[in-house]
Amino acid sequence: MEDDRLDLGLVDTVEATDVGEPGQRTFKITVASPRGEAVIWMEKEQMFQIGLAIKQFITVEEPPSSPTPYEPEYPAPPTPGKSEFKASEMRIRHDLRSDVFTVEATDPDSEAEDDNEEPATTVQFSFTREVATGLSEAALEAVSKGRPRCELCGGPKDPGGHVCPKTNGHHKGDFELA
Ligand SMILES: [Zn+2]
Repeated sequence: MEDDRLDLGLVDTVEATDVGEPGQRTFKITVASPRGEAVIWMEKEQMFQIGLAIKQFITVEEPPSSPTPYEPEYPAPPTPGKSEFKASEMRIRHDLRSDVFTVEATDPDSEAEDDNEEPATTVQFSFTREVATGLSEAALEAVSKGRPRCELCGGPKDPGGHVCPKTNGHHKGDFELA
């Protein structure tokens, strides 16, 4: 069974936006590199956690003084790949030596639901601290969209109140950058 994975390598930009009417918004990240392109749809909470994890990380962690060049983890596809799906699982991690962030998103629909036992599709892409900073801002902005933002975590403050992940430790493990 082959690993159905598209590694876009280093991307120059990561676009994070919301789509749709208030109350029915969905969220997506768009990335492209010479290796291909991907549109990853996600829940608001997932986009918030990505923005928050990056923001917390870059606030605390200094960049290395002499970062090593980044090498993509997987070989390039034979022809540029193209992928669009709604992510069931998303992970973000950081490589200390190169100071490069990597996001991995997995598509649930291609997981074994029939006799074909298709492996899950995974897209991963990597980006520098500078791009990460822009992504974090864009993600938190898309999530809050016009509402006041919490000064601690950057998340939206709803009229009904705000459960701040900075003060109660409420966050998802996958998004914890260390
Ligand atoms: Zn907060």
